Amino acid sequence: MQEIFTGSFTQQEPISDEGIAAALAVLRHGRLHRYNLAPGETGEAALLEQEFAALSGARYCLAVASGGYAMATALRAMGVGAGDRVLSNAFTLAPVPGAIASLGAVPVFVGVTEGLTIDLEDLAEKITTSGARVLLLSHMRGHICDMGALMALCDKAGLRVVEDCAHTMGATWEGRPTGRFGAMGCFSTQTYKHANSGEGGLLISDDAELMARAVLLSGSYMLYDRHIAAPPPEAFAAVKYDTPNISGRMDNLRAAILRPQLAGLAERVAGWNARYRRIETGLRATPGLTLIDRPGQEGFVGSSFQMLLRDWPADKIEQVVARCRARGVELKWFGAPEPAGFTSTYRHWRYAGAGELPATDRVMAGLLDMRLPLTFSLADCDVIARILRAEIGAAFQSEGGAGADV
Ligand SMILES: *Cc1c(COP(=O)(O)O)cnc(C)c1O
Repeated sequence: MQEIFTGSFTQQEPISDEGIAAALAVLRHGRLHRYNLAPGETGEAALLEQEFAALSGARYCLAVASGGYAMATALRAMGVGAGDRVLSNAFTLAPVPGAIASLGAVPVFVGVTEGLTIDLEDLAEKITTSGARVLLLSHMRGHICDMGALMALCDKAGLRVVEDCAHTMGATWEGRPTGRFGAMGCFSTQTYKHANSGEGGLLISDDAELMARAVLLSGSYMLYDRHIAAPPPEAFAAVKYDTPNISGRMDNLRAAILRPQLAGLAERVAGWNARYRRIETGLRATPGLTLIDRPGQEGFVGSSFQMLLRDWPADKIEQVVARCRARGVELKWFGAPEPAGFTSTYRHWRYAGAGELPATDRVMAGLLDMRLPLTFSLADCDVIARILRAEIGAAFQSEGGAGADV
């Protein structure tokens, strides 16, 4: 009997009773808009900002409508405008180049290494050839590059960094939380990320001017004194006449759902990592399969799992994906010719006029990706690893090595 996995790769944990109670309290009083407060009240959105600032060690925090909105707002606060070129990862998800394009700016893609992080050599070259002043760095699928080397390179060139931490809430590099290296850090609280309010985003920074601009941009209606994790009034006085209101606020209902989740983040991170390591252990020494090394400095969050079928022919990879799917294991393939679901590559974002990145194409051609929701048990992870191991092994052997370097 072939083993079949029956769990859902898109089923996150339910909202806790505490989150539901907090949401009901907001619904009962009816003040959902973040600036709609009873006398003396501090709203849920403001409290969420204060708590996330404390959790990440940032001076300031702003809650917004989505991760994509947070990124666009960070770029806008830095003065990125129409026609500007902005560096970003070739390996990321569509909302990242989308945030750049939303300002009329143009993404310039930097390649990816086999470790799935930004290629610092290619970055150095693109810094000189692109004329960009900002890098929107995506910690895609939770893989964190050598942040010391990256910041040294960017600081030396006078390039400002915005971090996309959609997959790294709770993650660190050398003990420092992601989002705390660049001038601004952007997080998503969309259902598939590390905290779930359906939609939502968080922006952090230590820079008073950037954050004052971001608060005004997000649609503060000059009520910025109702924030408790925002810069002092002087910072607003300096920029309030030339910063447009581009509404994208967080509301008190979603903030109420999120606050208990922040409190439980460390525990969920441990849960994801236990599942990640279980899958990794189950896949070790699978013929034809390359696992991704995780450097010791990286305090990652294993909410998804990536692996390489390096230099395999496309039809063999398609066969593995199809056979795993038939046994209930859902893989995304970054080498697919057409964008599908949440998976697309720099070649599909044609509005950016992508250059050629052959080394990146080679990595993406063999890259498989799998979600690891916390609704999976460790025993589920063992089943998944056994199915992957069997199907990858069988496909590899059926072609005497599947063209991989043996
Ligand atoms: C999900 C995601 C975002 C932002 O997501 P929203 O859906 O706009 O909240 C940003 N970057 C990456 C890599 C993502 O996966």
